[in-house]
Amino acid sequence: MLIFDAHLDLALNAIEWNRDLRLPLADIRQSEAHLTDKVDRGRGTVSLPEMRRARIGLCVATQLARLEHDAYSPIFGWRSPQQAWAMTQGQLAWYQAMEEAGEMVQIKDAIALKAHLALWQNADDATAEKLPIGYILSLEGADSLISIDHLERAWNYGLRAIGPAHYGPGVYAQGTSTTGRLPSCGIDLLRECERLGMIVDITHLSDESFWQTLEIFSGPVWASHHNCRALVPHQRQLSDEMILALAERDVVIGAAFDAWMLYPGWVRGQTTPQSAGVTLSTVVDHIDHICQLTGTSKHCGIGTDLDGCFGTEQSPADLTSIASLTQLPDLLKARGYSDADVLGIMSGNFIRTLMNAFKP
Ligand SMILES: [Zn+2]
Repeated sequence: MLIFDAHLDLALNAIEWNRDLRLPLADIRQSEAHLTDKVDRGRGTVSLPEMRRARIGLCVATQLARLEHDAYSPIFGWRSPQQAWAMTQGQLAWYQAMEEAGEMVQIKDAIALKAHLALWQNADDATAEKLPIGYILSLEGADSLISIDHLERAWNYGLRAIGPAHYGPGVYAQGTSTTGRLPSCGIDLLRECERLGMIVDITHLSDESFWQTLEIFSGPVWASHHNCRALVPHQRQLSDEMILALAERDVVIGAAFDAWMLYPGWVRGQTTPQSAGVTLSTVVDHIDHICQLTGTSKHCGIGTDLDGCFGTEQSPADLTSIASLTQLPDLLKARGYSDADVLGIMSGNFIRTLMNAFKP
């Protein structure tokens, strides 16, 4: 079964974590086991061979560079949009190098998507281990766009999705843990997305920006990595009212694997997946909540965010690597989901969104 992961910060890992994702996961872990500069050193769960092994042949891969803001302590982020833009261009160069090496292939239209799906669906396991991983390029947080015109430049190099905000305040939208509506440049950005046919990722928006986006933007939308506020209360999560509004627009929501979004009251660096009892089945709880609430499995997908600045210390306890995604189908079936439901959740629903978004 082909698996679609709607959120992976692959280039961030390659460039800022200095991980050569072409290597086996054990080698990546070993190569950095002595480092202490980041909390997740030696505990990564993603590599390209590991993805192929699990037939995760298609993903949304991000560019990610934010501006610094004094809302953070210690302050992180770039001091100018020009620097942030340069970082995203470095990340793009890595994806392009992976394409040249035959490791990945960019998917930016329906023709490429159909050809890629056929490639993976017809491949036996031995062949799949040599296939390129398809990626839809997405920008997480729009701070790096020096001007609105930079969005069309990005479209021209293959960007097909954008999340206007990330954590905290942003240039074009208010992000996670903030409040407030879109600034006028954020409204302009959405208009430009609509003109270009860019998918808007509503993940990370403040509640006000979320509702405003749904109101004024009529193009394609997804929620790439998002869990349920009813199960784990936090502004980062979707309320039931939000989930119902998204379902009404046929939006697909990718289940996120970051353990703090799966356990109420998670304390970073203190709570462990084991002590909290967070497992892959906990992820399924969130998928099931959305299905029960909306009465269909059509709005659920997978958007793990694995290695999104965390490793096994903050992932489901029974997840040894991203290849553990292959356990999800059985977990879903055990809760009564049909083969068709499972196929939709594992890839079909996001593929449907892409096909609709790619329509000329
Ligand atoms: Zn994120």
